[in-house]
Amino acid sequence: MLPALSLEPGVVLPGNNFFDELGWDSLNNRRIMRKLSPLHEIYYYKFPSYLDDILAPLRPTSRRQLALPDDKTKLKIFPIGTEYFQKTFFPSTIKDWNRQDFSNIRSIECKATFKEALAKKLRPVKSSPCYGLMDHNYDHTRMRHITMLRLNLSPLHAHKANHNFVGITADCSVCSVPKDTNHFLLTCTSFRLSRLPCSGK
Ligand SMILES: [Zn+2]
Repeated sequence: MLPALSLEPGVVLPGNNFFDELGWDSLNNRRIMRKLSPLHEIYYYKFPSYLDDILAPLRPTSRRQLALPDDKTKLKIFPIGTEYFQKTFFPSTIKDWNRQDFSNIRSIECKATFKEALAKKLRPVKSSPCYGLMDHNYDHTRMRHITMLRLNLSPLHAHKANHNFVGITADCSVCSVPKDTNHFLLTCTSFRLSRLPCSGK
């Protein structure tokens, strides 16, 4: 259900590159990052100790393995267990920890640097300019605001009320009509002055 929810706003965009376009992490990558951080803490800081007790027998021991830079941080995997067990924290996270493409990252001991390197590896690179907007000085924040308005997922009252935000009513507090994209861009009296430079062009 969660992946479907995360896709819902994305699919209305043309093409299939909405994750790249919006600079969103996929849920799977977010899950990997969230799970590897505590494992990193257990691995390097042996904290909390009751979880380190579980990890201790899985730490590399053979001389051959410890001599190889890529392998010396690899953990032993749980060889047996039901399919359900393999999806639990330790077996599933160790599989990600051992990934070949993470070998440089998992050798980083500093927690902050590790997280940063992981995010850099997994986050999609923000795409180049699109919709013919801002060909020069591409500005991701402006693009993000426009995208939020296009998807009716902006902080405007009407959009928030649509998604049942607690304590939010759809109306504009100044004009007492629904504060949606049209109202915000074209008619709201609060932004009359900001609109003037555009109306002259
Ligand atoms: Zn208004």
